[in-house]
Amino acid sequence: MKTIQILDKEFALSIPECEIQSAIDAVAKQINRDLAGKNPLFLSILNGAFMYTADLMKRIEIPCQISFIKMASYASTKSTGRVTELIGLDQNLLGRTVVVVEDIVDSGLTMKEVVELLKAKGAAEVRVSTLLFKPNALKYDVPLHYVALRIPNDFIVGYGLDYDGYGRNTRDIYSLVK
Ligand code: 5GP
Ligand code: MG
Repeated sequence: MKTIQILDKEFALSIPECEIQSAIDAVAKQINRDLAGKNPLFLSILNGAFMYTADLMKRIEIPCQISFIKMASYASTKSTGRVTELIGLDQNLLGRTVVVVEDIVDSGLTMKEVVELLKAKGAAEVRVSTLLFKPNALKYDVPLHYVALRIPNDFIVGYGLDYDGYGRNTRDIYSLVK
């Protein structure tokens, strides 16, 4: 079993490159079919989704736009809750079909907030395309239209995903050895 060391932790090969790429093939086919004629705007969530976005978009053959945003979450001074903000969104979303491109959906909280923010900015339709989904961790009701890979509740790195900022630059996905 191939393992890698990142900082203080050991990770074992979990999803090889070929499996990732064929899962993305299937999702891209579905998107090409579903969104033809809809002029979608793909919004990739940095940093984690950068590699998935590049490989997905190489396979999208319909007219579309691509842009990149970041999420910022901080504790609100007024209420008890968190405030989530989208940084770098410079497109007018009015009437657009938006496809969020995300690395991983765990509890679903991040994606729920992103979808709500995009709808509040006037998007006609928001679809979610996530590379990875942990079905057993989902706590929030969020529509996931395009899921490339379903995985167990393990902590994973690689192919864009990080451990403390490291490990994003691998072709395969690795999971934490406990
Ligand atoms: P959620 O809001 O769905 O609970 O969490 C989503 C975010 O948590 C992801 O965008 C990602 O940044 C982080 N995350 C969740 N699970 C993992 C994991 O297994 N590995 C890494 N590197 N990040 C994760
Ligand atoms: Mg992310």
